[in-house]
Amino acid sequence: TYDMVGGLEKQIQEIKEVIELPIKHPELFESLGVAQPKGVLMYGPPGTGKTLLARAVAHHTECCFIRVSGSELVQKYIGEGARMVRELFVLARQHQPSIIFMDEVDSIGGSRSGKGGGKGDSEVQRTMLELLNQLDGFEPTNKIKVIMATNRIDILDDALLRPGRIDRKIEFPNPNEKSRMQILRIHSRKMNLMRGINLQKIASRLQGASGAECKAVCTEAGMFALRERRIHVTQEDFEMAVAKVMKKDSESDESLRKLWK
Ligand code: ATP
Repeated sequence: TYDMVGGLEKQIQEIKEVIELPIKHPELFESLGVAQPKGVLMYGPPGTGKTLLARAVAHHTECCFIRVSGSELVQKYIGEGARMVRELFVLARQHQPSIIFMDEVDSIGGSRSGKGGGKGDSEVQRTMLELLNQLDGFEPTNKIKVIMATNRIDILDDALLRPGRIDRKIEFPNPNEKSRMQILRIHSRKMNLMRGINLQKIASRLQGASGAECKAVCTEAGMFALRERRIHVTQEDFEMAVAKVMKKDSESDESLRKLWK
C-alpha cells in the first residue's frame, strides 16, 4: 500500500494521476475531452522504491498486475522476443483492467543510434519495435496501463519516450533526511525496539543512502541483536548497522576506483 512507501509524496501524487485516476474515473477524462495517458516511465538509482510504488498502485487499483523484466524479453531465437511482447499485451487485454510493469526496460529499449549503450543487436531492436508498435496499437480507453522502470534513462531510445507512448517521466531520487527517517520508521515498525531509540540521528548519518539501504540498516540492526540473543534492538545495534551498511559502500567505491585507475 502507499503507507509502506516512505517519502516520495510527489511521485505518489503523479502516479495516482496517471494510472489510478484514469482507471477509476475514466469519465473525468471523457468529459474534459483529454486523452488518457498510456503509461509512465520511472527512473532513478537502484533501490529507490520504483518496484515498491508500482506494486502499491496495483494494490490500490485492484488491477491485474503483470510484471516482466526487460532482460526476460531478450531471447536467443529470432522473433521470440517480439512474440513475447505481443503475448504480453494480449494477456493484458484479456484481463482488463491491468497494469503491465516492465522493469529494466533499458535492456531492450536502448538507443538505436548507438549513443551510450548502443545495442547493435538486431533481435533486441526488433523486440523494441514490437513494443513501440503495441504501445501505439492500444487505445487509451482500454484499461491497460504501462509502467516502465529503468536505472539508465540516458540510454533509452527517444522513440519510446515520445508523448503518445510513454507520456510521463517520474524521477526517483535518493531519499532526503526526512524521507530516510520515514523509511526507517516503516521498516522498524514490526521490530521489537528499546524505548527511546533516536531514528532521527540514524537517518542523519545515512547521507546519500538509498531506500533499500535504509531497509538494510533495520535488518542488520536486528541481526546484531539476534547474535547476542537479545529480544530488543538497541540504539547501539542501529549505530553498528549504519557503520556496516555505509562501509560496504565505501569499500566497493574503493575497488571501483582502483579499477578505473
Ligand atoms: P531497481 O531499480 O534496482 O529495480 P527499485 O527502485 O525498483 O530498484 P525497490 O525494489 O522498489 O527498488 O526497492 C528495494 C527495497 O527497498 C524495497 O523492497 C523496499 O523495502 C525498500 N525501499 C526502497 N525505497 C523505499 C521507500 N521509499 N520506502 C520504503 N521502502 C523502500
